[in-house]
Amino acid sequence: MKKSLLDFIQSGVFLTRRSLLKLAAAGSALLLLGVDKAKAAVEWLSPRIVQQSAATTIDAAVKVVHSVCLSCNARCGVRAVVENGKLVKHSGNPYHPYNSRFEPVAYNTPLKDTLILPSPVCGKSQGMPNYAYSPYRILKPLKRAGARGTGKFEPIEWEQMIEEIAAGGKLFAHLGEDRVVPGIKELNSDSPIDSNAPELGPVRNGFIFIGGRDQNARKEFSDRFVKEALGSINRVGHTDICGIGFRMGNWTLTEKKQVEIKADPMSAEYILVFGANIYEALQPGINTYGAIVGHRSSKEAVKFTIIDPRATNASAHAENWIPIKPCQDGAFAMGMIRWMIENERLNMEFLSAPNPKVADQRGHACHTNATHLVIVDEKHKNSRKFLRISDLDPAAPEAEGEAYVVLAKDGKPLAFDKAEEAVLDAESSLKDASGKEIKVKTSFRLMKEGVMEHTVTEYAELSGVEAAQITKVAKEFTSHGTRAAVTQYHGAGNYLSGTYAAYAVAMLSVMVGSVDRKGGYMKGGGGAGSWNEGMYNLKDFPGKKKPQGVQISREKAAYEKTSEFKKKGYPSQRPWFPFSRGGLSVETLSGIDQQYPYPCKILFTYFFNPVYTIPGGYRYKETLESTDKVPLHVSIDIAVNESNLYADYIVPDITYSEGHYGFLTPHAPTLKFTGVRTPTIEPLTGRTADGRPFGEETFLIDLARAAGLAGFGENAITGKDGKAHPLMKGEDFYLRGIANLASAAKVPQASAEEIEFVEKNYPVARFKELLPKGEWEQVCYVLARGGVFDKTYEDVFDGEKHKYGLKRVVLYNEELATTKNSITGEFFPGTLKYVPPVTPTGTNIEEADKEYPFTVISHKMNLHTQSRTVLHDWSMEVFPENYVVVNIRDAEELGLKNGAKIRLVSRSNPDGVTGKAQVSQLVRKGCLGISFHYGHTQLGASHLPVRNAEEVFLGGKNVADKNGLIANPRHGAGLNPNDLGRLDESFANTPLIDPVGGIPDFSSTRVRIEKV
Ligand code: SF4
Repeated sequence: MKKSLLDFIQSGVFLTRRSLLKLAAAGSALLLLGVDKAKAAVEWLSPRIVQQSAATTIDAAVKVVHSVCLSCNARCGVRAVVENGKLVKHSGNPYHPYNSRFEPVAYNTPLKDTLILPSPVCGKSQGMPNYAYSPYRILKPLKRAGARGTGKFEPIEWEQMIEEIAAGGKLFAHLGEDRVVPGIKELNSDSPIDSNAPELGPVRNGFIFIGGRDQNARKEFSDRFVKEALGSINRVGHTDICGIGFRMGNWTLTEKKQVEIKADPMSAEYILVFGANIYEALQPGINTYGAIVGHRSSKEAVKFTIIDPRATNASAHAENWIPIKPCQDGAFAMGMIRWMIENERLNMEFLSAPNPKVADQRGHACHTNATHLVIVDEKHKNSRKFLRISDLDPAAPEAEGEAYVVLAKDGKPLAFDKAEEAVLDAESSLKDASGKEIKVKTSFRLMKEGVMEHTVTEYAELSGVEAAQITKVAKEFTSHGTRAAVTQYHGAGNYLSGTYAAYAVAMLSVMVGSVDRKGGYMKGGGGAGSWNEGMYNLKDFPGKKKPQGVQISREKAAYEKTSEFKKKGYPSQRPWFPFSRGGLSVETLSGIDQQYPYPCKILFTYFFNPVYTIPGGYRYKETLESTDKVPLHVSIDIAVNESNLYADYIVPDITYSEGHYGFLTPHAPTLKFTGVRTPTIEPLTGRTADGRPFGEETFLIDLARAAGLAGFGENAITGKDGKAHPLMKGEDFYLRGIANLASAAKVPQASAEEIEFVEKNYPVARFKELLPKGEWEQVCYVLARGGVFDKTYEDVFDGEKHKYGLKRVVLYNEELATTKNSITGEFFPGTLKYVPPVTPTGTNIEEADKEYPFTVISHKMNLHTQSRTVLHDWSMEVFPENYVVVNIRDAEELGLKNGAKIRLVSRSNPDGVTGKAQVSQLVRKGCLGISFHYGHTQLGASHLPVRNAEEVFLGGKNVADKNGLIANPRHGAGLNPNDLGRLDESFANTPLIDPVGGIPDFSSTRVRIEKV
């Protein structure tokens, strides 16, 4: 029987690029699918065919836009269907590898041939219409109309808000606040912020901008304002709460070059999954990584093991679920490495290659420093550093003198780059030119010594598993050559001492030599081309400033270089993080709270809800409430949340459907592409007098101009031809960015049909006059396809080698080894070492909180993202609340039944929080699993006394009356695990952080259960 096109689409048959090519080779994909070929060839297929009905003609009411999803950070493509101007549906973009298990349609496939193709997105993305049209969205600028935290706001005119934030003054005198609030103009000064400590930088640094979900392009836009126009060093990201722990492991492994590294899901035979929820979250997301692993595992092409205190959904397909003790991933990994060393299951060819050339000859795109010698003589001036030729021969020419040294087989020292082979596991005593002895060990020997400090049995005890489980996994892991690797994520290191745990986990892939090899451990391949330079210079402008000094989070700055250190030495008042990857929002807030190392004057928060999303974030209510600690707080966001409840002004922002232009390169592993995010619908917020939508870009442009900052307004952007262009709206910046990308990627000009399609469907086409015709036509090729996806999975490999890989990984990190803990003054270990999870002052929370017998662990759910998806009505219908998942044996001991109401009490939150127990075998005994996303007090959950609320909120009378916003109890359902978060008494009761990376702790909070 001949199938109709709709039958085919509804069947959910999944077409890979290869299968499409096969169909094409046989004549026509459409013909084979039973479609009337003649009809399909002459007419555009209506999106209605794909999405809703069997109509076959163009429907003017329905538009389709290819863009990039931001319902989570995974960066999948989306196909937005917009009906009568309203977003009605998201599905996937068939050109995008993340919607097609890495096998999209060929990039040069004409658009019309792809409109028939089904392509998935997850439930979070499908819920986007709920988010974009949430009745709790604010449409007008709000100004505080009562004390901070009372929720009293009033709508004000855009111009008034801009003027007040630019100029400052007695902005709240009408509320009885006599203080003079600083404005942006006041901070535009090069005077030192602290004349006794000029190294901290200028007054400008009193401006602090913390970005939540601030993705590429919008991030550069805010950088332009914060760092380049105003000159503050404090544009801080939120990598810490996103998952800096595992990133610190990779950061150490790659000498600060890369943080995103994972097992290749397409070709691995065995994947060890540490703390990563691959079927429900991760980056790439559940459409991609989980889909590939699930698909291949169903064909027995890949096996995987889940190591996690909670059985994630993927455990159902896994070889094993190993319910490890929280914070002990490093112990498990080091137990494996010990077994691998003792049983000679290491890839010696890889590890013993002394330099890149030899590694390449042995089939590896990456090399290690395993054979390089480290000076272990404490008295030597370069102790803890690598031995260099200049240490042996100070007269060596500079270029040669810098070379690392290895030991040849005969025990003689040799420059690493001249060696064909070198000894891997050795120590020696070498003589320098003056005859003085220098004690050295290879990096491998130092790592091995760290690993050998504990037996496999001890590592098993530390990680709360059987020793046999460690050896079994180690045996399996080393049975697949270089087609085995780890994938670790948030759960594997976001806790105290997480740097060393995640470093040990990452090291497993090094031991089997799978780094940068197909099926192994690798980074992403990067973008398709530069977007912020080329045809238009979006990076530089006359008057651009270079930020100076130290971030208030103390990331990437050494305490030893400060005036404070010169005065009093160790300990510093709070930890400093010279080695951190950075993005330390938690320590930024703690710095603001403690006015250390200098006070905050103005805080901007963007898309950021720290009170809700940080473990122990409730502590910052006190910070944000204080007008001394935060004299002016401006929030840029779409709704009133638990944090901007304390703001002085809230700037209404657009959602990503209405903007958030972006250039999204792949997460690890493998691919090379740039997805392009553009609006799919027109902005819903109010507009300025000249018609620009309220939102981040319009706000920063107008504020910069009002404050007299460079880089915005007339002549702010320079073209390659020397012509100057204005920056008066977001599109002036972003559309030129797409032109840069299209030019750099050398894409062709779109066909007339595709140009017509873009101009009829894409909101950004309203601004096409910004570009010359030829550039616009090239841009249309990119827009029609939602980005540049011209490289396949195979294209990033040269045989087995990843072309765009890491190139070098280290068993000993010299910089880390020579960095000191600013509290204790002690050096950090430079290689693997079991470091228990302790605070910067050495407190072990497990021991300190013994009377609280349960450890809280948290996780994401497949229909939710962090805090904001409480606005996704469909997700909330499916899962109206969350639970406290209690191990069945613990429940029996406590006499708890499913659904029992319980209170969890922690040392830092003695009042506790209440929730419902869910008795399960899927969580480790002694652990309580609680998902994020619930337990809100804002985002619609509470009444807010906002003046003229019916005009302020998108839902109008449906959510507001003359008294303000009406509370919706559904939004307050469940509980938030972060409300229990352990605080550190040694540091002013602020949230726990790790001393190396500034990692916030998500896994150490202990509680007791009380029946309610
Ligand atoms: S995983 Fe889902 S929410 Fe995340 S980017 Fe992909 S489609 Fe969007």
